[in-house]
Amino acid sequence: MKILKLGDRGKEVLDVQSRLRSLGYDLGTDGVDGYFGQDMHSAVLTFQQESGLVADGVIAENTWCELVEAGYKAGERLLYLRIPPFRGADVLILQRSLNCLGFNAGPEDGIFGSLTERAVLDFQKNAGLVMDGMVDDSVLRIMAKVTKDGEPHSTEAKIPDRNGGHAGGRSLSGITVAIDPGHGGEDDGFVLASGLREKDLNLDVSLMLAKSLESLGAKIVLTRDSDSPMNLYDRPAVANAAKADIFLSIHHGYYTSSRAQGAAGYYFCRQGYFSEAGSLLAQHIVDRLADELQIPAIPVLGRNFAVLRETQMTAIMIEPVLMTGEGPGGMETAALAQRESESILAGLREYFTT
Ligand SMILES: [Zn+2]
Repeated sequence: MKILKLGDRGKEVLDVQSRLRSLGYDLGTDGVDGYFGQDMHSAVLTFQQESGLVADGVIAENTWCELVEAGYKAGERLLYLRIPPFRGADVLILQRSLNCLGFNAGPEDGIFGSLTERAVLDFQKNAGLVMDGMVDDSVLRIMAKVTKDGEPHSTEAKIPDRNGGHAGGRSLSGITVAIDPGHGGEDDGFVLASGLREKDLNLDVSLMLAKSLESLGAKIVLTRDSDSPMNLYDRPAVANAAKADIFLSIHHGYYTSSRAQGAAGYYFCRQGYFSEAGSLLAQHIVDRLADELQIPAIPVLGRNFAVLRETQMTAIMIEPVLMTGEGPGGMETAALAQRESESILAGLREYFTT
C-alpha cells in the first residue's frame, strides 16, 4: 500500500480520516478534508500509542491494518474460525467477554483462533445453543444480556447453564469425573497436632471416591494419585484434556476454633457470572455430607479460584469437614475418609438423577 504521511493529499487520506473520526479521534477544525495536516498527524500518533504501535505518525501497512480492525463493531460480521483468522475489535470484545465469563478464549489478542472457537463452543453449550462455533445473533444476544463491552453489567446476570444447572436425569455411568486431591508433595496443606496431613486425607477421600465411581461405570481422571506435587494450573489442565464432565477438587479446611464446623462447597463465580450447575452440585454434596457426618451444612459459596475458573466443565471444590483443634472427634481417619467419599458419591448421584 501507499505510505501516507504529513502533507499528503487524496482519497486514501480521506479514507483514513473517516476511519479515525468514526473511532472518535479528534481531527480538529478541518475534519475529513483529504489533507494530511497537523491535526490528523496528532490523531494518528494518539491512535498508534493507544494501539500499542510504533508512534511515528505515518500510515504504513501495520497502522492501516490496525485502523481497519479497530473499526469492526460487535455484531457487524459473522465471526467463526477460518484461515486467515478474523481479526479486529469485535473479536477482542468477544474474547474479553468470554474470558470474563470464565470461558477460556485464550489471550485477548483480537485474533479469532482455535482457543476462541473452543470458548464459543463452550459458551453455546452452556447457553443451550447449537454448538457450531459461529458467533451469530443468538450468541451475541445472550452475551449482551450478561456483559457490556466485555464487562458483566449486573450481579443478577448470568449465563443460564442448560436446564438451569440441572443435569436432567443422567446416569453416572459413562460420565467422566476429574478428581483433584488438594496439595501434595512438598505442600502438606494443614497438619494437625496428631500428625494428620491435609494432603493425605484429601488423597484418601479422592481414591475411595474414584474407586466407587469407577464401579458405577464412570470414567475417572485424577490430578494426582500419589503423594506427588502438582502445579495449581496443571490441575484444571488435566481435567480439560480429559474433557471431563465434572471437576471435583477435594480439600479440608482447618480452624483453630472448635466453634467452626461443617461441610463446605464452592462453585465458580466471577463479576456477576456464576455457575448454576456448580452451585447445585455443591449444594447436593454438602447436604449429604452434613446429614451423614452430623455436621452443619455451610451455605455454598461462589469463588473465583483458579481450579474453578480454568476448568471448562462444571467444577466445584468441596471441604467435606472443617477440621478443628484435634481433628475428627473420635473417628479413625480411614473411617472418616470412607464416610466422606460415600457422602460425596451420594450427592453426585442425587445431582445427576434429580
Ligand atoms: Zn487445602
